[in-house]
Amino acid sequence: MRYSLRGVDKPKTLVIGIDDTDSKRAMCTTYVGAVALRELEMRGFTRTDHPRLVRLNPNCPYKTRGNAAVALLISAEKGLEDEVESVVASTVERLADMECEGTDPGIVMAWEEEAGLLREVYWKALTEIVELGDVKRLLKDLGIRFRCYSEGRGIIGAAAAVGADPSTLMTYEAIAYRVPSKWGTERLVDAESVVEMDRALCDFTFDNYDYEKGEVRITPHTPCPVLAGVRAVTDVHARAGLMMVRFLEPIDFVEVFRTNQATDSHYLPSSVAAAKPLTSCAIRGVISEPPRMTVGGHVFTKLRDSTGEITLAAYYPTGSFREAVLNLAPGDEVIVYGAVKPKPQGPTLNLEKLHIVRLEPKYVFEAPRCPNCSSRRRMKSMGRGKGYRCERCGFRDPNAVPRRIPVPRPLAQGIYEVAVSARRHLVMPERLRLLRSHYQHR
Ligand code: ATP
Repeated sequence: MRYSLRGVDKPKTLVIGIDDTDSKRAMCTTYVGAVALRELEMRGFTRTDHPRLVRLNPNCPYKTRGNAAVALLISAEKGLEDEVESVVASTVERLADMECEGTDPGIVMAWEEEAGLLREVYWKALTEIVELGDVKRLLKDLGIRFRCYSEGRGIIGAAAAVGADPSTLMTYEAIAYRVPSKWGTERLVDAESVVEMDRALCDFTFDNYDYEKGEVRITPHTPCPVLAGVRAVTDVHARAGLMMVRFLEPIDFVEVFRTNQATDSHYLPSSVAAAKPLTSCAIRGVISEPPRMTVGGHVFTKLRDSTGEITLAAYYPTGSFREAVLNLAPGDEVIVYGAVKPKPQGPTLNLEKLHIVRLEPKYVFEAPRCPNCSSRRRMKSMGRGKGYRCERCGFRDPNAVPRRIPVPRPLAQGIYEVAVSARRHLVMPERLRLLRSHYQHR
């Protein structure tokens, strides 16, 4: 820990946000942040908390993959900001994939007590689209340090990571990074050990393995420096989970991030009419059209509320979730969660989660049997509301009505989720919600 020799300035927490250092072909902002943190630690700075990994609006058109940004929290004295900035900046300059168009790194630095001034930027970047000019202006007005490279779009995510609302930072991810010589090669992870770890730590970790598709979910599929990441409700379980996995290649180092992943914080409660494209919404309404499956295996239906109607889409990769959507029927009352996409046929909600609140009873109608003759045959309708007639004995009953027989629905009230491999970083697995309420009530 660095202390002032005169002991006048007590060290305080400096929050350093970093974003937009990667491209589709290389790098990862979590790696840049983790390396910068190590560089700072080598110079004697200490961390005051886990670094943050925040996921922002998953519908942002500028994102490379998971719209991640990071923030480092270190103890520093006033006056050392220049040194900290230069360490972080030189790490960004060395590692960012600057040759790729669209990599626009940004760094934002604020003392912890100022960081709350960026809370609004965080919420906006998580739920909407933010203008770069607005963020620049705000940082200038607040006198908060920032540094831009290329277009500097990264300051949006960097400012959001600095201003992250602690109430949303509820999960952890332990990430193992690969040695640089392995970047871009196939990741060597023993899938069986991932399943063993998942079974052993299923009350604490999540989204390790997709049992429906038989797919390891802790490894990315991109040429970035990440070997694997285990997500959990505590930092200890995240690290323990990672350590239980057998890797058949060396690990360079491990960093544990505090995250807003799996928290559902990106959803805006909305009506159909207010659901804006490029946002993620939770809308309550009634199914208004029988669902249908396309040749490609995508399922579509419609939802209506008092303000309008919106198309709902459950795409092929969402797996058996589509069966639930396909079994919905007009009149079912639901809350749907997903991303609002502008489509030629009007806005469409790409479903991420479905809450069936009430199922509309379904019936089949049967003609009554003849009570008069021995045939016990079903009678024939004489027209709507005009009763029934027996074709055998000619008996007529103008007051006879069809029998209403309830048809069991192959669905129940409750929450339905997409396949683990189709789940977005911010979406909370329902098992996690149950575990959380279990621990809260103990
Ligand atoms: P990875 O997940 O692999 O780290 P990424 O998907 O996070 O990559 P970036 O390369 O960081 O993608 O690019 C996202 C860019 O979009 C950044 O410049 C970030 O500042 C900006 N951004 C993030 N959220 C918003 C938003 N809500 N509105 C406008 N810009 C945003």
